[in-house]
Amino acid sequence: MSLTKKNLIFLGAPGAGKGTISNLLLAKVKLAHISTGDLLRAEVAAKSELGLAAGKIMASGGLVPDEIVAKMVRARLAKDDCREGFILDGFPRTIQQAELLDAALKEIHSQIDAVIYLHVDDETLLQRLTARLNCRGCDAIYNKLFMPPKVEGVCDKCGSALYQRSDDSLETAKQRLSVFYKQTEPLIEFYRKAGLLMTFEKGDPNAIVDQMISDLK
Ligand code: AMP
Repeated sequence: MSLTKKNLIFLGAPGAGKGTISNLLLAKVKLAHISTGDLLRAEVAAKSELGLAAGKIMASGGLVPDEIVAKMVRARLAKDDCREGFILDGFPRTIQQAELLDAALKEIHSQIDAVIYLHVDDETLLQRLTARLNCRGCDAIYNKLFMPPKVEGVCDKCGSALYQRSDDSLETAKQRLSVFYKQTEPLIEFYRKAGLLMTFEKGDPNAIVDQMISDLK
């Protein structure tokens, strides 16, 4: 299946479902998945210079400097698989990142077609974050309360062990939400003014993805 609007940004607070909904959409539509959180966690795991600097900031719930993240995304967008369309999951997170993204896309004669804003209330966000489980072996995401795996602690898809992200503790999750409201929320108005914003309210992830596909066709 292909979409008319295929260069997408997923915008939403931590826990809004950007990763979960990306995975469901990617199962139906061929797009490159660019999660800056995943790219940064890979740098942390590899103990690269970037990873060592970013790891401390991530552990505190803050944002990694705009230029560093934008440079990483710019390199990723230049890869061939992005020509068929992409999901930017968790980027941009500041107005400056949005401007750096715009410049990077202009250089490669590309543009954003739609910004998907996932709107979820704070109480649900905190409940979801503190009960979230991630797979060590693949991109699967579970939730102890709302979307448990069939066997406790084991990924349904690949059988690897599940773990809780260290920044999903209650204290750090609250800090990440406050960073979202201060630094990322202004992007909603920014993209609304640009005529790109599509808002989806909290709901069944499969239903959200079906609606999204029909709106992006
Ligand atoms: P995520 O997996 O999207 O929740 O990201 C985890 C952490 O990585 C965030 O709390 C930030 O510390 C960092 N991070 C991810 N994306 C960005 C970004 N676009 N700008 C700055 N920091 C980011």
